[in-house]
Amino acid sequence: MDDVKYLIVGGGLAAARACEGIRELDASGSIAIVTAEPHLPYHRPPLSKAYLRGERALSKVFVQAESYYRDSNIAVYTDAVATRITRRSRRVTLADGQSIGYEEMLLATGGRAWRLPLSGADLPGVFTLRTLDDCDAIRQAARAAKQVLVIGGSFIGCEVAASLSQMDVPVTVCFLEDYPLQAVVPEELGRHVQTLLEDRGVTVIADTRPERIEGTERAEQVQLENDQIVEADLIVMGVGIRLNTQIAREAELDLTDRSGVVVDEHLRTSDPHIYAAGDIAAWPDPASGERTRVEHWDVAYNQGYCAGRNMAGAGESYDTLPYFFSDILELSFEAWGNLSRPDRVITRGALQDGAVTYWYVRADRLAGALAIGLPDAEREPTQALISARTQVQTIETALADASTDLATLL
Ligand code: FAD
Repeated sequence: MDDVKYLIVGGGLAAARACEGIRELDASGSIAIVTAEPHLPYHRPPLSKAYLRGERALSKVFVQAESYYRDSNIAVYTDAVATRITRRSRRVTLADGQSIGYEEMLLATGGRAWRLPLSGADLPGVFTLRTLDDCDAIRQAARAAKQVLVIGGSFIGCEVAASLSQMDVPVTVCFLEDYPLQAVVPEELGRHVQTLLEDRGVTVIADTRPERIEGTERAEQVQLENDQIVEADLIVMGVGIRLNTQIAREAELDLTDRSGVVVDEHLRTSDPHIYAAGDIAAWPDPASGERTRVEHWDVAYNQGYCAGRNMAGAGESYDTLPYFFSDILELSFEAWGNLSRPDRVITRGALQDGAVTYWYVRADRLAGALAIGLPDAEREPTQALISARTQVQTIETALADASTDLATLL
């Protein structure tokens, strides 16, 4: 393994985009990606949607074809786990004992799926979903499954429940909250998602904790609280991730108290030769005025690119408004800004008409928006209103009126 000018640890979306950013400014500086997975970088959103359902080809899931890395002179080491960063000599050691030196390094190690520590959680038939291999295994198991239980009512849980029901497998979904997506969406929308799932044949069990998974050789049923039993020979847990930031912690990079890697506006960590991007990066978000860390495809996409350019000397600030999307059955969501802990929500349009925007208000300013069926003409003003943290008081009535031209509120 030769030393390189640019080393990227982690091989997800942020890593692939960093290569594009670097190559824009430096056509020949040596680049290597070290990734724990056996695959080239790929997109994860299709793993709970079209790819899981068998509606998207494997080749369409990769961020770049193999030829891109070859033609761009980028070495990709797969099945290669970085175990230690020695900052003083700028070297990274791998699990097999090899090491690789760098001038500039990007950490883009993302997260791994969390498995609830329930009795029986290690039985065959119990899955989490983070990787392409997880997805292939779930799709294969779904072909033979008689009954699926999805544990978790957030986006991944709802998307998987929806996709598996579209594959004509009987599905139950259970979660702790009162309705699906409760942490981020208004109640009317969460209840609407529940109705859509139920109309599709999914059994929804809200406000309920799974207690243990039972089975002799493989999962057969799940005991829920209140002595409820759900038969299931395929169980998918969609209960969140843990960040792969142990290597950053051991290298004594600054971390947040929730294990995100602290970066500045250039996505540089507390070590000037190490950058971080994607799910692990906690950056100073100018829109919210807060240090922010999210698990969004678009953020990994844009931060990876920005970090790559900065590794090659661009010195650009990362100021893109966080953006998120999801598809559950026929419903497509888009969200900008910060949807956590709103003081209140202003509704524009109507869910039953298929076009609604929920404006999230914090401290009397617009913090975020969640939209369904947003007209194209409203995309830019929506983002601009949030980026400006617009004061709500004087515009509230006009904002709630779907006939108001949003651009006039800027
Ligand atoms: P990752 O994609 O997690 O990549 C990190 C890579 O680094 C992994 O391959 C990992 O194995 C590797 N790695 C970790 N540690 C090491 C190490 N020590 N050495 C070497 N390699 C290492 N977002 C949306 O906005 N909308 C969606 O609809 C959506 N759907 C999703 C559906 C699924 C099923 C999943 C799992 C995620 C979804 N996301 C979605 C989230 C989005 O995919 C992530 O935010 C994005 O993948 C983050 O990219 P990343 O490059 O930061 O990290």
